[in-house]
Amino acid sequence: MSADSKKAHNFIESLIKDEISSGKHTGKVVTRFPPEPNGYLHVGHAKSICLNFGIAQSFGGECNLRFDDTNPEKESQEYIDAIRADVHWLGFEWAGEVRYASDYFDAIYDFAVELIEQGKAYVCSLSADQMAEYRGTLKQPGKHSPDRDRPVDESLALFREMREGKFADGELVLRAKIDMASPNMNLRDPILYRIRRAEHHQTGNKWCIYPMYDFTHPISDALEGITHSLCTLEFEDHRPLYDWVLDNITPPARPHQTEFARLNLNYTITSKRKLKRLVDEGFVDGWNDPRMPTISGMRRRGYTPESIRNFCDMIGVNRAGGTVDMGMLEFAIREDLNARAPRAMCVMRPLKVTLTNYPEGQTETLTLPVHPQNEAMGTRDVPWTRTLYIDREDFAEEPPRKWKRLAPDQAVRLRGGYVMTCREVVRDDTGNIVELKCEYDADTLGVNPQGYKPNGVIHWVSATDSVEADINLYDRLFNHESPDSDKEGDFIDHLNPDSLSTITGARVEKSLATARTDLPYQFEREGYFFLDQPAPESGRLIFNRTVTLRDSWAKAK
Ligand code: ATP
Ligand code: MG
Repeated sequence: MSADSKKAHNFIESLIKDEISSGKHTGKVVTRFPPEPNGYLHVGHAKSICLNFGIAQSFGGECNLRFDDTNPEKESQEYIDAIRADVHWLGFEWAGEVRYASDYFDAIYDFAVELIEQGKAYVCSLSADQMAEYRGTLKQPGKHSPDRDRPVDESLALFREMREGKFADGELVLRAKIDMASPNMNLRDPILYRIRRAEHHQTGNKWCIYPMYDFTHPISDALEGITHSLCTLEFEDHRPLYDWVLDNITPPARPHQTEFARLNLNYTITSKRKLKRLVDEGFVDGWNDPRMPTISGMRRRGYTPESIRNFCDMIGVNRAGGTVDMGMLEFAIREDLNARAPRAMCVMRPLKVTLTNYPEGQTETLTLPVHPQNEAMGTRDVPWTRTLYIDREDFAEEPPRKWKRLAPDQAVRLRGGYVMTCREVVRDDTGNIVELKCEYDADTLGVNPQGYKPNGVIHWVSATDSVEADINLYDRLFNHESPDSDKEGDFIDHLNPDSLSTITGARVEKSLATARTDLPYQFEREGYFFLDQPAPESGRLIFNRTVTLRDSWAKAK
């Protein structure tokens, strides 16, 4: 099945098609992805990125990358740089330069003045507490601020003085004059500007007043000529305010907002605030910890951009919401890697095997395919020597019934190599098995043995011609399906204590000393593994498990 045939319905794409065929929309389709640079992007943002850039691509339009940077205290250049890198890595190009809402602070200020001049905004001196009290409730209308009818000239002068720094933080705000009795709380004279003495990563100390998101967003969209402003459903109740702003100023263009359901993924969280807590409190090794649902974490884990884009196509875009099973994301990466990952062998828990009938010092170079179904990927050289390693778990002294691996006096094939039979089990003083003495069958390379049948095929590496590596086995970060659903409890309580286990002293094929850094490998019979990046200073090889070969979660836990 091609990735395309798995594409789920995207209602926004259909909507725009209809708009174009009915003539409601003419001209270019322009979208934007508007992250706030207050954390790293996560898989939920990937959905929004694929949607916004995807819509632009489908209709031959453009998509802007605009930082929605109206909360300077929480934002930083580090986040800006990480977000740009992530969007690029996912495979998308934004139109022109990166944009910032802060680029428009002068224009936004002028639009605020335009509203005041029309008597549609006023400077209000109520304290935050008073304002909350005056706002009313869902059942009760709010009350007018005593400043609501402040003369236009007075509001204009005060607003200018707010900008000039004549007032303390929080002393005054600029509010829209809409409707204190509106059933939509967002229309009860919302705040447009507040005083905040905070240095801004883009504008420095130029401003001590900052516009609110709900005022900034429609204006930024209009200034950029955005036609379709796509956002998640929690902004549905803000749409009347979005429209009010644009209907009451003279905007250079008239964008429209359409909402879609955000992505929720089970066994993880998609909230920058909560992810930041995991980082700040040291529960994970940074924003790009391979267990994090961040784009940078998934990248370090070995997820490919294609797999994430395919996943976004598979989940589609609708308004219904719900929670997507993590198994679907894992399916997407398995499917991509099964087709593309080079194969290699890694012995996680090495057990020495001596081939008693193979000459000391002799090496034979076996040629194995890099990918069994794709000849074009070429071959790799794997040395066969007198001492080998197999995985401890592939040997059983007393094998259970239907054992498909090695046991005393039984034979197995070593993947891509010969068939061998176990003749002796060697133990140390404390009784631990430390070595197996086996005989190999020289007539079995690529052909079945005569007169007996091996139990199965196991993986292996040369003991003398392989490389040591450490392996990080990652599992889901939370052991609860919806870790943050419990409003009383703390999502931290649901962290999976076994989300990382590290194996030191595994052995990998020699060729992996210079492993690729662009695609995970399939370690045969073990899963998909990606070289940790950046490489540690110790020079040790570290591989991160991207995903197991099969979904073991559905049944096991
Ligand atoms: P968070 O709650 O994680 O902080 P946010 O919505 O505040 O998310 P923004 O940086 O404002 O983060 O988001 C940028 C864009 O990505 C917005 O248009 C937002 O609607 C969208 N987005 C954020 N989270 C998701 C999600 N889980 N699924 C789909 N889109 C999302
Ligand atoms: Mg936001």
